[in-house]
Amino acid sequence: MTLADQWRAARPPAAGIHVDSAACSRQSFAVIDASAAHARHEAEIGGYQAAQAAGPALDAGRAAVRALTGMTDADVYFTTGSNHALDILLDDWRGARRLACLPGEFGPNLAIMARRGFEVQTLPVDGVGRLDADEAGRELSADPPPLVHFTILGSHTGTVQPAREVAAVCRDLGVPVVIDAAQGFGHLDCAGIGADAFYSSSRKWVAGPRGVGVLATRPGLLSEPTVLWLGHAETNVGLHVGLSLSLGEYVAAGPAEMQARLREVGAATRTALAGVAGWAVVEPVDEPSAITTLRPPPGVDPATVRARLIAEHSIVTTYLGLERAPREMTEPALRVSPHVDVTDAELAAVAGALRAVTP
Ligand SMILES: *Cc1c(COP(=O)(O)O)cnc(C)c1O
Repeated sequence: MTLADQWRAARPPAAGIHVDSAACSRQSFAVIDASAAHARHEAEIGGYQAAQAAGPALDAGRAAVRALTGMTDADVYFTTGSNHALDILLDDWRGARRLACLPGEFGPNLAIMARRGFEVQTLPVDGVGRLDADEAGRELSADPPPLVHFTILGSHTGTVQPAREVAAVCRDLGVPVVIDAAQGFGHLDCAGIGADAFYSSSRKWVAGPRGVGVLATRPGLLSEPTVLWLGHAETNVGLHVGLSLSLGEYVAAGPAEMQARLREVGAATRTALAGVAGWAVVEPVDEPSAITTLRPPPGVDPATVRARLIAEHSIVTTYLGLERAPREMTEPALRVSPHVDVTDAELAAVAGALRAVTP
C-alpha cells in the first residue's frame, strides 16, 4: 500500500472532497478511538487515575515533539492550541515588550501581541512575502529586538519561510526565537531550526483532535510560576492522548516520506488549478508546501465560491479574508490544502467545480 492509500484507509470516508487540511485535517479511526477510550477509562476508574495511567502515552507524544523539532531537551506542554501557546509565552515574557516578525504575521497572533503590550516591528521580505534573509541579518544585527516571533508557514499563503536562517542569525545575536509552526508541524521538516520555543496546533497537518496543541520550550525559558501553573491547569487528557497517537502515526508513516508526499501534492494541486476560470495560483508550482492559494478573477468573491463549493459539490476549501494577515493581504483568496491521500481525479473534480461555480 502506498502512503496515500494507508492514510486514506486509516480514517472514515470523507463526505465529498476534503481539501482543507490547513484548517483541520481528518482524524484517523485510531485517534478518534483513543480519545474516546480515555473518556471511558475516566468513567471507569476516575479522571485522575486515568490521567496517571495515560502517562506513558503522553510521554510518547512529548518524545515525538522533541524528535520532530530536534529540541532534544525541550520541556513539552500540551496546550489548547497555537494561540494559547503564544499567549503563554508572551504573558510570561520578562524582557522588553518588543518583537520582530514577518509582515505576513497571522492576524490573531498580532492581536495577542497587542493585548500583551508588545510593540511589533517587521522583518524585510521580497515581493511574495518571503523573508529576505540577508537584509534581515543586517537589520537584526544593527538593532537586535528583544524577541523574534517567526511563523514558518502562514495561514494565508503556501510560502515556506527560511526559519533555519533566521534562527541562526538570532542565535549569533543572542536573541530568543519563537517559532509558530501551526502550519509547519507535520508538514515541513522542523528538526534543527534551533528555536527557543516552538508551538503548533493538533488539528492541522498532524491530523490530531481539535482544541489541543503543543508547546516546546528550551529549559529555563518559562518562569517557575508559569511552569507550575501549566502543570496544574485543567486539561482534556483524552484529547492529548489522541494527539499523542496522531504524532505516533505520523512518525510511523515516516516524516521524510510524509513531507515529500505533501510537496508532491502541492505541485499537483497548483498544476491542476492554475488558470482555471481565471483564478491565479499565488505560489510557484514547486513551492515546497501543500498549501495552494488562489487569487480570484476580478469581481469574484471567494467567500461565495467557497460556500457554493460546499453546498453544490461537497468540496471543502478555506476562505481567506484579509484578517488572516492584515499587514500583508490586499485581497481575499481561496485556499486549497489537500493531505497526502488526494487523488488526481479529486483535483480534477475540484478544478471542474471551481469552473462551475465561478460566475
Ligand atoms: C491556525 C493558526 C494559528 C492558530 O492556531 P490555533 O490552534 O487555532 O490557536 C496560529 N498560527 C498560524 C500560522 C495558523 O495557521
